[in-house]
Formats: sequence, C-alpha cells, structure tokens
Amino acid sequence: MTAPAPKPWIDAIAPYVPGRSATDSGAKAIKLSSNENPLGTGAAATAAFEAAERTLHRYPDASAADLREAIAAKYGLDPARVIYGTGSDEILHLAAGAFAGAGDEVLYVRYGFSVYPIAARRVGAAPIEADDRDYATDVDALLAAVTERTRVVFVANPNNPTGTYTDRRELARLHAGLPDEVLLVVDQAYAEYLEEADDDGAFALAQMTSNVLVTRTFSKIHGLAAERIGWGYGAAPVIAAMHKIRAPFNVTTAGQQAAIAAIGDDTFVAASRDHNLRWKAWFEGEIAGMADAGLRAVPSKANFILVLFEGRVTAEQAYKALMVEGYIVRWLPGQGLPHGLRMTIGTEEEMRGLVAALRRIVGAGG
Ligand SMILES: *Cc1c(COP(=O)(O)O)cnc(C)c1O
Repeated sequence: MTAPAPKPWIDAIAPYVPGRSATDSGAKAIKLSSNENPLGTGAAATAAFEAAERTLHRYPDASAADLREAIAAKYGLDPARVIYGTGSDEILHLAAGAFAGAGDEVLYVRYGFSVYPIAARRVGAAPIEADDRDYATDVDALLAAVTERTRVVFVANPNNPTGTYTDRRELARLHAGLPDEVLLVVDQAYAEYLEEADDDGAFALAQMTSNVLVTRTFSKIHGLAAERIGWGYGAAPVIAAMHKIRAPFNVTTAGQQAAIAAIGDDTFVAASRDHNLRWKAWFEGEIAGMADAGLRAVPSKANFILVLFEGRVTAEQAYKALMVEGYIVRWLPGQGLPHGLRMTIGTEEEMRGLVAALRRIVGAGG
C-alpha cells in the first residue's frame, strides 16, 4: 500500500521531548523538569486572565496591539517592531521559516536549545552544530562554522539546558563576525533571571542593526507557560517577513490580557528572581558538597542547573532513583547529555527534599 510520504527532512526530525509531569508509576510527583516558575503565576496576571472578557466567540486581537504597546513601553522599544507568537517556540520557527530553506544552514552551539534543529529541518535547512567550550557557547567555534550557506544563527542566552551565559562583549564579537545577511537570533527565554549587570546587549543590537532578532517568553519567569505567549524584536524588514508566515490569531485574548498584567508586575518578577538566585546558590553549594560522589554543577545564570554525574552513580541511575523518590528532573541523552540531569530550581521545600534524595542516591553524607 502506498501512503503519503513525509518529506525526507521532516522524517529526519527527532521529535521534541517535553519534560514529564508524572513518574513511571503514575504517582504524583514534584516536577522540576520544565523550568517553570515555582512561585506560580503573579496575582495581577491571574486576575487579568480571569477578568478577560468572556467573548469566546470572537477572535483575539490579531495585531496584539495592547500587548505590543506594553512590551515596548517596558523595554523602551518600537511597538511596530514587536512580533508575538504561540510561545517563543513559534518565533524561533518563524525566524527559520522566513530566512532559511533547502540548501541553507542553520547554526547553533552543541547543547543548544533542542528546538533549533527541529526549526531548521522543518524548513528543509541543514542544522549545523558548532563545538561548545566546557558546555558554554564558544563564539570562535560558531564563527568558524559559518559558511556561505549559513542563514540563521541561534544563541540562547542563558542557554537551555546548560544554563551558561554569553556576556555582552562576546555577543557583540559574534555579531561583528557574522555577515550582514545572516540573522542572529538571541533567545532570551531566561533573561529576566539575570542580574542587571548581566544585560547581554542584544536589545541594543536589535535596535541598531538589521540582522538581530531577540526572543522572549511569558512561559518562564512570568509563570504563564499554559497560555503560550512569546515575542520577538528586530529590524522592521525582519519582523515583516516573519509576520507573513505567522498564524493569523496566534495569541489568545485571555493570554494577551494576562501577559500585559504580567509584564507590569515588577514585584512578582523581582520576587521570582530573588527566590531563584537564593536557592540556585544554595543548590550549587549542595552539589559542590557531593563532589566526592562525582557530581558537578555547570555554572548557571538561569532557573535550573545542569548537574553532571561523573562518579559511580550515573545520571540515568540517579534520574530513575529520583523518580522513585517523587522528583521528576530532566535526563537528556537525546541531546548528547547522557551524563547530566537538568534540575529546575523549585520551592525551598522541594529543593531541600531534592538534595536529601540526591544524597541518599549517590551515597553522600550530610
Ligand atoms: C522554554 C524555552 C523557550 C520557549 O518557550 P515558550 O514556552 O515556547 O515561549 C525558548 N527558548 C528556550 C531556550 C527555552 O528554554
């Protein structure tokens, strides 16, 4: 029997694997596998979501005008150059779709965000992986991998799943080394977790140059993952090309309202950042205390830590044992990280419980 044949570049896609929310046994567990905000959603965003007009029969505002205004006002941007998406995932796909295709290359660093190769293959482009430098983005390796076929370069900053960060000088050096016709996408899904001094300068590059796109999301620090809202900022022609292939009503009415409230809720964002900085530092210290058992934390500026298992207990064993203890973290063998577990910073209780479980599993005292 013949059947519709997917295009070969679609067949070549390794499907995205989402963080799990139930254990093998189906028991209720603590989910530290998707970098969600342990404080939940801010009260203002929740109230706006609930108050959103019950106009379910009406399409949402296709131009997301109020949302773009709110974003632009918050970051000092031009609202006409803000694009919005069904999560920033859609923005990443739009960037690849508008600027790359068959015969082109889409470049990113090893251990980059797992959506980048999918976005490349989806449009028939070749995903090209540059070497990392001890799990972090290596600007020299990226620049060395640029060819005349390169059309898009993706850099997540901080990166997921490593948590590593590329500073302003390095990012500027990467941009300066790229041909003008290559689009540099700086994926800032975790930027709100950075301290102010760590601004990577990507918005300034996007303001001043023709080939930089910055992407952000409401899924992470803003606690609106369920509503699927992300956005991007770049030069007007870049944004215009992406709009052409965007789904017409891609952000819901209630989602737009909740996002507007969330972006104005500095108190919730600050509380989330402070919580994260405190418990990330604590967790890093606890992992350092398990060095004898071969555990090592990759330095992270995000709301998660990639813990490497280089001792007797493997990452896979620890992953399964943590699941039995009721903690779901992320094991990433499909991303070349069979020796690492990515763990989201949770509540105090969750972190203390996670560390106690880890100590039992790897046989560390304390
Ligand atoms: C979570 C994440 C995103 C996208 O999340 P959305 O929910 O689609 O906005 C994008 N990039 C990175 C690096 C992420 O970790």
